[in-house]
Amino acid sequence: MNPSESGKGKVSADIQVKPSNFIKDRIEEDRRTNKNDGRVATRFPPEPNGYLHIGHAKSICINFGLAKEYNGTCNLRFDDTNPSKEDVEYVDSIQEDVKWLGFTWDDRMYYASDYFDRLYEYAEKLIMDGKAYVCELNPDQMREYRGTLKEPGKESPYRNRTPEENLDLFRRMKAGEFADGSKTLRAKIDMASGYIVMRDPVIYRIMRAHHHRTGDKWCIYPMYDFTHCLSDAIEGITHSICTLEFENNRPLYDWVLDQLPVKTHPQQIEFARLNLNYTVMSKRKLLQLVNENFVSGWDDPRMPTICGLRRRGYTPESIRDFCDRIGVAKADSMVDVGMLEHCVREDLNKRAPRAMAVLDPLKVVITNYPEGQVEEITADNIPDNPESGKRKIPFSREIYIEQDDFREDPPNKFFRLAPGREVRLKYAYLVTCQNVVKDASGKITEIHCTYDPATKGGDSPDGRKVKGTIHWVSVQHSLEAEVRLYEHLFVTADMNTAEGDYRSHLNPKSLTVIKGYIEPGLAAASSGTKFQFERTGYFCVDNADSKPGKPVFNRTVTLKDSWTKIEKKEG
Ligand code: ATP
Ligand code: MG
Repeated sequence: MNPSESGKGKVSADIQVKPSNFIKDRIEEDRRTNKNDGRVATRFPPEPNGYLHIGHAKSICINFGLAKEYNGTCNLRFDDTNPSKEDVEYVDSIQEDVKWLGFTWDDRMYYASDYFDRLYEYAEKLIMDGKAYVCELNPDQMREYRGTLKEPGKESPYRNRTPEENLDLFRRMKAGEFADGSKTLRAKIDMASGYIVMRDPVIYRIMRAHHHRTGDKWCIYPMYDFTHCLSDAIEGITHSICTLEFENNRPLYDWVLDQLPVKTHPQQIEFARLNLNYTVMSKRKLLQLVNENFVSGWDDPRMPTICGLRRRGYTPESIRDFCDRIGVAKADSMVDVGMLEHCVREDLNKRAPRAMAVLDPLKVVITNYPEGQVEEITADNIPDNPESGKRKIPFSREIYIEQDDFREDPPNKFFRLAPGREVRLKYAYLVTCQNVVKDASGKITEIHCTYDPATKGGDSPDGRKVKGTIHWVSVQHSLEAEVRLYEHLFVTADMNTAEGDYRSHLNPKSLTVIKGYIEPGLAAASSGTKFQFERTGYFCVDNADSKPGKPVFNRTVTLKDSWTKIEKKEG
């Protein structure tokens, strides 16, 4: 079995071999033939019109990952050619998120808008070479002239203007003489091309919009297809890796670079974008969820954004592991969110300290435990990791356990507390349920137990075994804390094919806020700290709403791993 077949690329505990993929095959071929002198230069080119999401993380891991693997470079480039939707808030958040994921661009942070002057000169060069013209068709006419996949397009009546006339008009477009949208600059390519993008694509438009970097200097802005390839060439990118939807744009990418005196001609390579079930990844939709208050913000822990996942308790390691596992393919697919959850569980299992927290309390009185007595119980921070140390938890006569851990009439295979039954209170004592106290309506209000003082630590000297171990907190010492339980943001798995308005698929139960009772040591936990609450899941101190001594916890993920089951079934 080679490493890629094992799925994890692990050949031994300490050697990590990343599996190959078609992008790496391509790069290795280029290195064999000494193309670009064997250099590997990639870039991650977000448009600053929203926050980064888990799909971007895939692209970030690929681009920065390849640069690292081949001792190359990866630039961070803001693709900021559409000022009406872009903002510095996004520019800042993107930098923060890429850094948080564990990648650096050193001093190679660029903006496509840095190249506006050069792009303008390139456009004039195309005009002078008879390869671009100023067109006055309006958008409807342009659509009509473009033709369809079956029918060739028609040439614009403005197509045969002389270079001099075009140059004069283009300069006047730049000077602000014409109204927004009244004219465009188009590449003169081929109205009969099988590639619709090659049918004289627009490369400049008139748009009076304030740009977050160039201010009001420009009233014409270059289009993506013109800007992107030239930005890549200007930066000396060798492999321009993008998502599949740009495959049809590749002829245009190459055409522009072939017409102009650029020093390098990067190779565009497309891969399948990440789709994740039970969520949406369109920035337009994510922005709408924020603006229409379906979520509390871009960093709402239910969002698939990097900042949302961070606030939820995901670690950079878990996200990078996820991106490694999903691999790089050429065909679109839907990834089960269970796999992302599996990755964070694996990571947090290794390093999140354990804590006792009761989320749905049922009071237990230990009737033979001396009133007023308090003991310090010793507990492992992380079992199987002696370096993580131990902590003390107060134990007293009255404790809370989970409602779920008691049944008055226990079904088969229910091994937790029930009348007459003995269970282990984790790290503390064996207790036996003697009595159930109910209110007038028959609702259980508390349980009375006795404990065996000889079982401190959880084992009995006479070797008797109990089947159940449950967690607990001392009523008097525990701290009340807000706990936020999250479910999928949408109820429908495949949101790409969901019918009707995507907002009608929102999960009304995606957030449940409850009061939990936590062991007192957690009061001081700082924001972002992660814990495994014994038997209930991984939780993280909320980075926005927690106050000193008053932590708010976000459930990152439950302990139930649906993914392992899926993997077993498939494997
Ligand atoms: P739009 O262009 O519609 O605003 P976008 O998701 O393409 O949205 P960009 O900011 O242009 O956003 O994306 C930056 C980079 O991240 C691009 O190279 C893009 O291909 C890549 N990317 C975006 N979404 C995904 C995804 N779901 N999976 C993998 N890569 C993605
Ligand atoms: Mg894009």
